[in-house]
Amino acid sequence: MRDHRASQASHRVGRTTWHAPVDRPGPLASISETASRSGAKHALVCDRDGVIVENRRGYILRPRHLRLLPGAVGALRLARAFGALIVIVSNQAAVGHGLLSEVGAMRLHTRLLGMLMRRGVDVAASFLCPHAPRDRCPCRKPASGMIEEALSALALKPADCFLVGDALTDLMAGRAADLRSGLVLTGRGHEQLASVSEDHPVFADLEAAARFAVGLWTSRQVDGPV
Ligand SMILES: [Mg+2]
Ligand SMILES: [Zn+2]
Repeated sequence: MRDHRASQASHRVGRTTWHAPVDRPGPLASISETASRSGAKHALVCDRDGVIVENRRGYILRPRHLRLLPGAVGALRLARAFGALIVIVSNQAAVGHGLLSEVGAMRLHTRLLGMLMRRGVDVAASFLCPHAPRDRCPCRKPASGMIEEALSALALKPADCFLVGDALTDLMAGRAADLRSGLVLTGRGHEQLASVSEDHPVFADLEAAARFAVGLWTSRQVDGPV
């Protein structure tokens, strides 16, 4: 029988293995083996720039540009303490625009994973879209490709996940993948607020968003399966 999976190239960066499809446009992906076997039911699906780390207008291109937002680590710890997985889905158009190589983007993100790990946060899966808008790839948000691949890799249901982003395109991607989503006012959040419809909750930061998501999941457990 034919293998329908596209062939993938693997890149080892430190202790992290990255995969990239070679015969079609797709995201760079790093998925924790332990997380995919954990049987966890919930996930906090986070945009990266402007949500976990400070947004940077000229793109995040160097390690020194990776600055954790206040409260971000606490937020991710809260979700992990509940048993939810952390998933990061990030457009990295700097690659598509030639400002950063694919390997450079993987290295930078791996560095962030190390920063989080040293603070007690293990990330279950990271997906980076290395394309520019003109590439018309299925992964660049507002498309839902990265979210769908992440959920499938971790055997998660959209209804059990909550997406947090600082841009309308994040929320659109979440909606396209049937996830509940909320906007944070960090990063580009303030300037995006006017374009976000009222049915999305708005949070000061990732910490408030994580508290909301955990509250939602806890109340569902009390109410029984929904
Ligand atoms: Mg962002
Ligand atoms: Zn893409």
